[in-house]
Amino acid sequence: MNNFIFKLAILLLAIMLQSKLFAQEKPEYVVVIHGGAGVIKKENMSAEKEAAYIKKINEALQTGKTILEKGGTSIETVIAVIKIMEDSPLFNAGKGAVFTHSGKNEMDASIMDGKTLNAGAVAGVDNIKNPISLAYSVMTKSKHVMLSGKGASEFAKNQGIEIVDPKYFFTERRWKSLQKVQEREKKKLENEKEKHGTVGCVVLDKYGNLAAGTSTGGMTNKRYGRIGDSPIIGAGTYANNATCAVSCTGHGEFFIRYVVAYTVSALMEYKNLSLQDAGDEIINKKLKSAGGSGGLVSVDKNGNVSMPFNTAGMFRGFLKSTGEKKVLIYKN
Ligand code: ASP
Repeated sequence: MNNFIFKLAILLLAIMLQSKLFAQEKPEYVVVIHGGAGVIKKENMSAEKEAAYIKKINEALQTGKTILEKGGTSIETVIAVIKIMEDSPLFNAGKGAVFTHSGKNEMDASIMDGKTLNAGAVAGVDNIKNPISLAYSVMTKSKHVMLSGKGASEFAKNQGIEIVDPKYFFTERRWKSLQKVQEREKKKLENEKEKHGTVGCVVLDKYGNLAAGTSTGGMTNKRYGRIGDSPIIGAGTYANNATCAVSCTGHGEFFIRYVVAYTVSALMEYKNLSLQDAGDEIINKKLKSAGGSGGLVSVDKNGNVSMPFNTAGMFRGFLKSTGEKKVLIYKN
C-alpha cells in the first residue's frame, strides 16, 4: 500500500512539473516586426544581403526592447521601431521606398492605439522622411484619421515633422527594379511576383496596451495615385486591447477587399478563435484561395505571437520579455 501511495505521489509530482514547464509564462512585453513578404528564397539571396537584413531586424527588435524595458508605451515603441526600418534602404518604406510608374516615390503609413482605438494614417506622401511619425501626428494632433498627398505635407510642415527633398528616396536598387518591371511590361511579359518590402510592428507593453503600425512605398510601377492597404485601418493595420494587434504586408488590393487586419481581431472577438487560428484562417485559407499573396505579424493581449504568410518568405522577428526571440526570413 505504502509503495502504491509513493508511486502515486511521484506520478502527481511529475504531472505538476510538466504542466509548469509547458505552461506559457505571460510576457510583460512583446515586440514583433515584419519587413515584407514575397518571393524571398534562400537560393536568390547572397550571404551579405541575408546578414544585412538579419542585422537590421535585430537592431529594430533591440530598439523596441530598450524602450519597453524602461516602461515605454506600445505606441512609442511602434514608432521608434518602424523609423529604424524606414531609415534603412533595405525595406520598401521611407528611404528604400519603391518607384511609381512615373519615377516618383509615394508612401503610405498608419498607426493604431489598441487602448483607445484611435488611429492615424497618411497616403501618397512624397517628402516626409518618416511617414509613420506623420501618421502619429494625424492621430494625435488632428481631428482626422487619414490625410493624403499635398494636404498631408502641408499638415506635416505645420507640425514640424521632418520634410526632405524627394531625391532623398532615390536608391539605385529600386530604380533598377522599376526599369526591369517597365521593360517586361513593354514586351507584354507578365512580371514576376512582387517582392514586397513593407515594414510593420506590433507591440504589447507592460501596461497591457497593444499598438500596431505599418509603413510602405507601395508597389513598384504603381500609377494613378494608387493606394494600398498599409494606410487603411482594418485592412493593413489594426489594434484593439480586447483582442490583438496586427500589421500586414502583401498584395494590397486583396488585403483591402478581405479587410485582413480587422478580420483577425473579429475572428477572435466573435468566434473565439486563437490568434494563430484567426491568422491562418485569413492568410492561409481565405486569401490563398483567392490568389492574394502576403502575410502578417500579430500579438494578442496575452503576449502570444503569430506570423502567418502564404509566400516563399517574410522578413520577420519577435522578442519577448521572457527572453524568447526569433528572427526568420524563409518558410520553416
Ligand atoms: N501591402 C503593400 C501595398 O499593397 C505592399 C507590400 O506589403 O509589400 O501597398
